[in-house]
Amino acid sequence: MSLFSAVEMAPRDPILGLNEQFNADTNPAKVNLGVGVYFDDNGKLPLLQCVQAFEKTMMDKPTARGYLPIDGIAAYDAAVKSLVFGTDSEPVKSGRVATIQALGGTGGLKIGADFLKKLNPTAKVLISDPSWENHRALFTNAGFTVESYRYYDASTRGLNFAGMLADLNAAAAGTVVVLHACCHNPTGYDITAAQWDEVIAVVKAKGLTPFLDMAYQGFGYGILEDGAVIGKFVDAGLDFFVSTSFSKSFSLYGERVGALSVLCANKEEASRVLSQLKIVIRTNYSNPPTHGGAIVAGVLGNPELRALWEAELGEMRVRIKAMRQKLVDGLKAAGVKQDMSFITQQIGMFSYSGLSKDQMVRLRSEFGVYGTDTGRMCVAALNSKNIDYVCASIAKV
Ligand code: PLP
Repeated sequence: MSLFSAVEMAPRDPILGLNEQFNADTNPAKVNLGVGVYFDDNGKLPLLQCVQAFEKTMMDKPTARGYLPIDGIAAYDAAVKSLVFGTDSEPVKSGRVATIQALGGTGGLKIGADFLKKLNPTAKVLISDPSWENHRALFTNAGFTVESYRYYDASTRGLNFAGMLADLNAAAAGTVVVLHACCHNPTGYDITAAQWDEVIAVVKAKGLTPFLDMAYQGFGYGILEDGAVIGKFVDAGLDFFVSTSFSKSFSLYGERVGALSVLCANKEEASRVLSQLKIVIRTNYSNPPTHGGAIVAGVLGNPELRALWEAELGEMRVRIKAMRQKLVDGLKAAGVKQDMSFITQQIGMFSYSGLSKDQMVRLRSEFGVYGTDTGRMCVAALNSKNIDYVCASIAKV
């Protein structure tokens, strides 16, 4: 008997498992629409020019790699605050936001979850049905009971907003509600500004704890536009959590650059919250890595590079929208009778295509077109070379 003889094999991560299957597929026409990654029109992961330019300045003036402070690079945390809340916003000016540099958006969520578990050990967590597949596992592993609120309605291929509101209304005070700030993953459907107002009213009336997951700021309508929902929560006088990810918006997936911001009642409270977040970090991984954070802080802090970043992010956003339109037009041209125009109403990197599990399996096995069994496809992986093949393949299933 070895120490590990009773260890069970854990299930494969559904998305990464799909990736392995894709890599092993010998079909030369194969297309990977499974992962949540932006590819350019040549099917390549972009290395943004703003990133390259800043890295060049780093190479020109190399620095030693000491430990960062537990909460990360101060200029990075300040840049995140400005991006999320607005540079001249009241929360930033009054100093009542506690922000830490985290290992990607996932890290921001996990630090927040661990802190919340200490703060309110008996709270439940509500996530959207469906949600990013890691939300449930992450909050469950942090010790929470995770349930869901209604969100997507497969029968109408749209949102069940009445169901969402009813489920939030029925939640006990203190329940943590995970909300996608923009570009809902996986459905691509966001609620409207007026619907956000209704959600905020319920969150406030019922004393729920909002946790906004902002993994795609800038991929919806623009950086400010996508951040506007944060302003609504501020205006409502709520305290809340926001996780940030730069994986997609800077195409820095492997550098693990993200953050957690907690809006508190005042500056003094924010400093106490920050001290607790630091304990969570210190006892997990001590302090964050230097490189990715330095790039993001450097780009956001330099007016020229920042303008370049905004332009490059804008290009990604515009290209995804163009691909949505091409997908709708291409499916029609390929003979799909159903109205697929809902794809252009969706926003962000993903589309819930409405295809069944059987259809997704056939797409994979017969055509080498990979999406998740739920019908989610990454529109950001479509390009002018693979779109016709994808449309024709979908039309055949
Ligand atoms: N939250 C959502 C909704 C996501 O879609 C993702 C990434 O796919 C993340 C968080 C995690 O981001 P990161 O890769 O920066 O950890």
